[in-house]
Amino acid sequence: MNNYGLYIHIPFCGYICNYCDFVKMIPKNQEIVDKYLNRLVQEINLYQKYFNKITTIYIGGGTPSILSCQQLDYLLSRIFEINAIEKTIEINPESYTLEKGLVLKKYGINRVSIGVQSFKQETINYIGRNHNLDDVIYAINSLKSIGINNISIDLIYAIPGQSIDDIKNDLNFAISLDVKHISYYSLILEDKTFFYHQFLKGKFKPVDNEIEASMFELIIKSLKDNGFEHYEISNFAKKGYESKHNMLYWNHNNYIGVGLGAHGFVDNLRTYNNVSLNKYFNEFQKSNRIIDMQENLADELIFGLRLLKGVNISYIENKYEIDLMTKFPQLEFKIKQNLVEIKEGYLKLTEKGIFFGNLVFEVFI
Ligand code: SF4
Repeated sequence: MNNYGLYIHIPFCGYICNYCDFVKMIPKNQEIVDKYLNRLVQEINLYQKYFNKITTIYIGGGTPSILSCQQLDYLLSRIFEINAIEKTIEINPESYTLEKGLVLKKYGINRVSIGVQSFKQETINYIGRNHNLDDVIYAINSLKSIGINNISIDLIYAIPGQSIDDIKNDLNFAISLDVKHISYYSLILEDKTFFYHQFLKGKFKPVDNEIEASMFELIIKSLKDNGFEHYEISNFAKKGYESKHNMLYWNHNNYIGVGLGAHGFVDNLRTYNNVSLNKYFNEFQKSNRIIDMQENLADELIFGLRLLKGVNISYIENKYEIDLMTKFPQLEFKIKQNLVEIKEGYLKLTEKGIFFGNLVFEVFI
């Protein structure tokens, strides 16, 4: 039986971070939020026939923790009957409360991903976020106290002004929190963000590539030395705590995407939801299209190579009836460049390739 993931998007935030290009907005009032949740539940119900196949649920944003206890209760009670093994919600430290934690617990949320980004107040302020260290510690202790121990934190490196010592301090602090999972992303300068406008005005200077690489090297070493497995380019987990939901993406499995701007991949159909709230209120989807074999193959290789274990060559060759090296002769060159390697039947990024994944992925596009 095929496994499915369910992604639920909550687009509301209390403020807009300087680097963010997600589908998000500051809600005008609570009526809008209630109206959205109502519509969202209608969309979820369209997928009723998949409910017994859903193994993971991920409520992301935006900032799902901006919802009130009543709003969380409304949404979570509507999906409670879905018997997924992993149910994750994203929270921001400043909008989390114990009362909200208890609502999460009541409805079986068993994994929480916290947007921390940095432990240094100056850096948090610089990227336009609104929490402090006490908020982070409170959220983590509170979640643990109610038995939600599967906690992930998001961190960012290569933020202008960040030094190697700052990364060391962030790593030490992150490790001391005894969380199960860490996602560590480099800051990407995205179009239409505040930072991008600053960049165009010459007021934002991206971190030098070599410094960025040194930071990433330090992150990998330090987390590995402290019991985390580096299992995906940007993700690290204690044994058995990999994100099951995200594994569905990287393994090119099915996932239903509901909510503003969400996209999905269901039975070979890619779905793209409307990104404007008014449009979403009238119609959930903006478009959808069937993915052909060629595109599936490219996606499967690109997503699969993000996983450090790589992709199983014979599985791919049988599924797509191809010979991998004949189909993508440029791979030979990438192997010679020591970006990718074949080991025990798997095609995988080398230690060097982890830093230059895009140079490998371009082969498949
Ligand atoms: S990064 Fe998160 S909290 Fe900040 S604006 Fe984007 S979605 Fe909202």
